[in-house]
Amino acid sequence: MARFFVPARNIAGGRATLAGTELAHLRRVLRLGPGDRVALFDDTGREYEAVIRAVASDAAELEILGSFRAANESPLELILAVAVTKGEKMDLVIEKATELGVSRVVPHVSTRTVPRLDAARSERRLERWRKIALSAAKQCGRTRLPEIAAIRPFAAVARDAWPGTLKIMLWEKEDRGTLAALHAAEPGARSLLLAVGPEGGFSAEEAELARDHGFNSVRLGGRVLRAETAAVAGMALLQFLWGDLGRAPGPAGPDEERL
Ligand code: SAH
Repeated sequence: MARFFVPARNIAGGRATLAGTELAHLRRVLRLGPGDRVALFDDTGREYEAVIRAVASDAAELEILGSFRAANESPLELILAVAVTKGEKMDLVIEKATELGVSRVVPHVSTRTVPRLDAARSERRLERWRKIALSAAKQCGRTRLPEIAAIRPFAAVARDAWPGTLKIMLWEKEDRGTLAALHAAEPGARSLLLAVGPEGGFSAEEAELARDHGFNSVRLGGRVLRAETAAVAGMALLQFLWGDLGRAPGPAGPDEERL
């Protein structure tokens, strides 16, 4: 069944209204119309079964047949603070982050970041990443969209408070810290931030700044990985150690709240 994203504010009284790119997808790409059944998900983790009642050029009206809470979301809050890389690689990281259950992506630029971005280009790239995250979420069955934050300097991200979050920096020059040791020390962490550097790596000053602000620096192994490989491998490892990868999914739950 086709799946569409509807913000919760567009669902009320057993009806849902679909607009924008999701409407275009329903009308023009899938050519669905009144009577067709579809699946919906909103931004609060709820899934719906619905039937299309009316389709117009600006909106589609759907009747909700049932709702439930899906169990596709990781119990781990995972924040990926990743250096902005060249176009396609960053697109890949956003897609994989969504599939791997990241809750928030914080793109950063650091002293050795290659792409130089002005305000207009940054805005265009953010828009593109949000679209990629939406389509990846639909494809993989997520019920929450990862939030894509504005691009900021790495130093600002490192200085943020991040209360209750265990902060991890991937640093290929680290000689002691490992994820296995960190997990043994902090097995109960529910919120993690993973910082990944640019192709040129974090500078020694950035690594020091991060450590001064409570980041645990870890090395993933003997090989130096490309930034996008490090991001994908890092997210998978964190979901394995603290989250929901490598485990049987939980059962989907009934929706306690009535529509
Ligand atoms: N240009 C650097 C490598 C940068 S790799 C050099 O040649 O030394 C890009 C990013 O991936 C790094 O900033 C780091 O965050 C991460 N990374 C790559 N390999 C890693 C490893 N083995 N351990 C930890 N982090 C790694």
